Amino acid sequence: MAQSSALKKPAWQERWEEIKPAPFRTAVEVLPGLYQVRTKGSSAYLVVDDDEITLIDTGSPGSGIKILEAMDELGRSPEDLKRIVITHYHIDHVGGLAELQDWVPAKTGVHLAEAVHVESGEPLPSPFVNPLLAKICAGWLENHGPGRARVDEILADGDELPAFGGMRIIHAPGHTAGSISLYFPQRGVLLVGDAMQYKFGRLMLPSRVFTQDMTAASESIKKLSRLQFETLCFSHFRPILSHADRKVREFSRTLEA
Ligand SMILES: [Zn+2]
Ligand SMILES: [Zn+2]
Repeated sequence: MAQSSALKKPAWQERWEEIKPAPFRTAVEVLPGLYQVRTKGSSAYLVVDDDEITLIDTGSPGSGIKILEAMDELGRSPEDLKRIVITHYHIDHVGGLAELQDWVPAKTGVHLAEAVHVESGEPLPSPFVNPLLAKICAGWLENHGPGRARVDEILADGDELPAFGGMRIIHAPGHTAGSISLYFPQRGVLLVGDAMQYKFGRLMLPSRVFTQDMTAASESIKKLSRLQFETLCFSHFRPILSHADRKVREFSRTLEA
């Protein structure tokens, strides 16, 4: 049970918090210490070490509170969140960042190509590749901006951060120019954000509707297929829990050279 919650909850509430099954929890454990958090519009991930927590992505605007709730479910306080890493600038990944930065002491890292979108405070560029859809969506983005967020650290391919015994930044452009994947070699985990889709038990290229450069996206999947990992995590799909690298290698062979 969370010790950090300032609210006094009635006993039945506490009982439910203890026994509720996975579908009712905000955070679902993928592996010990790695949690997929349902945010508005996508998933975020909490990487929980003894002394600090790293958050990957922040969901759409309004998701900040869900991430703090998930940490509360794990019995951890907002002060434990020391690092936020953003896989790419799309609204369903960066939307909760500004609000979270008001509440937690975390430092935020993004790739250089995404930093301007995150920090400008201007409406985000449309995620739609099709010009007509982009135009339709522009008005909505104008009124649903995530607010100005802070970038503390520019992340580049090959950088290592201390989460989970070592978290390596893998630049995987295509979906956006500065998309990154996070690789945890000590734990055999790769987290790809929107660089791949996993539907009906099949790996697929990222959505054509939202991907800037499909050729680069294919190249990035080939790059990721050279890594060794057991578990593969996505921002919009359930994780693959075993032999995931083999599945990515098989998939990458089907992509044109
Ligand atoms: Zn995206
Ligand atoms: Zn997304």
